[in-house]
Amino acid sequence: MARSIQAVRGMNDILPDQEHIWEFFEQTIREWVVAYGYRNIRMPIVEHTDLFVRSIGAVTDIVEKEMYTFLDHLNGDSLTLRPEGTASCVRAALEHNLLYAGPQRLYYSGPMFRHERPQKGRYRQFHQVGVEALGYTGPDIDAELIVMCADLWKRLGISNVCLQISTLGSVESRILYRSRLIEYLEKNLDKLDEDARRRLYSNPLRVLDRKNPEMQEIIGDAPGLLENLDEDSLRHSDKLQQILIDQGIEFEINPRLVRGLDYYNRTVFEWGTDKLGAQGTICAGGRYDGLVEQIGGKPTPACGFAMGVERLLALIAECGKEIPNSVLDVYVIHHGESTDGPTWKTVGYLRNQGLNVILHCGGGGFKAQMKKANASGARFAVILGEDEIQAGVISVKPLREEVKQVKIGLVEAVGLLKGI
Ligand code: ATP
Ligand code: MG
Repeated sequence: MARSIQAVRGMNDILPDQEHIWEFFEQTIREWVVAYGYRNIRMPIVEHTDLFVRSIGAVTDIVEKEMYTFLDHLNGDSLTLRPEGTASCVRAALEHNLLYAGPQRLYYSGPMFRHERPQKGRYRQFHQVGVEALGYTGPDIDAELIVMCADLWKRLGISNVCLQISTLGSVESRILYRSRLIEYLEKNLDKLDEDARRRLYSNPLRVLDRKNPEMQEIIGDAPGLLENLDEDSLRHSDKLQQILIDQGIEFEINPRLVRGLDYYNRTVFEWGTDKLGAQGTICAGGRYDGLVEQIGGKPTPACGFAMGVERLLALIAECGKEIPNSVLDVYVIHHGESTDGPTWKTVGYLRNQGLNVILHCGGGGFKAQMKKANASGARFAVILGEDEIQAGVISVKPLREEVKQVKIGLVEAVGLLKGI
């Protein structure tokens, strides 16, 4: 026997038994984004590697370790499977001059790829829904994005989610802070681990992100970002907090929230839960006023977030929301080995009436077909025996309750099958 081929590690199949949960999620997302006036944009899954290096930052975990980058052997281009959507979304908006028409509220969804160690809630192909507001200075739009998230949690029936926010200040104040931080870290060089030393000059803010227990003391004593903020950013942050308070949205200020991508400034936020173990961040985002210019556009303020679909689906399940999973109305049982004209006609009629119908295929006796009907999850079996065809009627047998089978005219049957 040939050796069986399996899916790539960390890349999941989504099987039919899960489909109703994904459909519920996708339907809820569509209604939600439309309610806030966001429009869909679909970008390719592959982009030029430079796009991510330039936007996410060369010295970040994503770019250094997690990207699926390969050479297009046909022309020598370096390409990358997208690890996130913001850079692609901004690239597409610029390429098609969307911003000429004014600010844009956009959203996208789809698979993202990161070469991480697979574990619960962490995969190499995973899905995100991302929302981006391009061309708005905020902080009203920052607040809108956060309010939107809170609304979505309600629509999805999830609870136990907490919001953390912080501000990174302006690009200028970060440069100033960066040099203060480097100065501090240089004084404590002997206490830094190898990774921290490597990042000392390239990305010192990331040093604060180190989980190494031996470094926690020097991280704790490091000069804080919040004490080094510029006035405008402070005002922006105060205003955002005021709107959130007015809107009844609880939050915690976490000055250590640095995020794994370099393009953020001012507002950053994360929604997390304690119900999913270690991978508890379900949604993260912030302001990225410099990114449009960095990718080659005119300076344009912007703000957005992305959420991890697999983690959200796991949380929906944790919160016990019931999602009905059968959409099949009718399983049609018929006489004879091959289905004949009247059978096909009846089935066609029922489908045109909006019913979801499986026509039994593969022959077999009445009993065997009935077994299949019971196993199918359909609400009704419709029986088309010779008697029924002769009399121009159908027999309807409810499969989920103890109700007697009835013989009934086809047109009349539609109401019964639809449950009206
Ligand atoms: P984490 O800290 O969990 O690695 P991140 O900061 O790298 O997350 P972002 O780049 O902000 O994640 O992506 C937004 C969201 O996408 C995350 O909050 C998470 O829900 C989801 N996500 C990120 N990486 C993965 C992954 N490898 N598998 C599944 N979901 C992921
Ligand atoms: Mg990560």
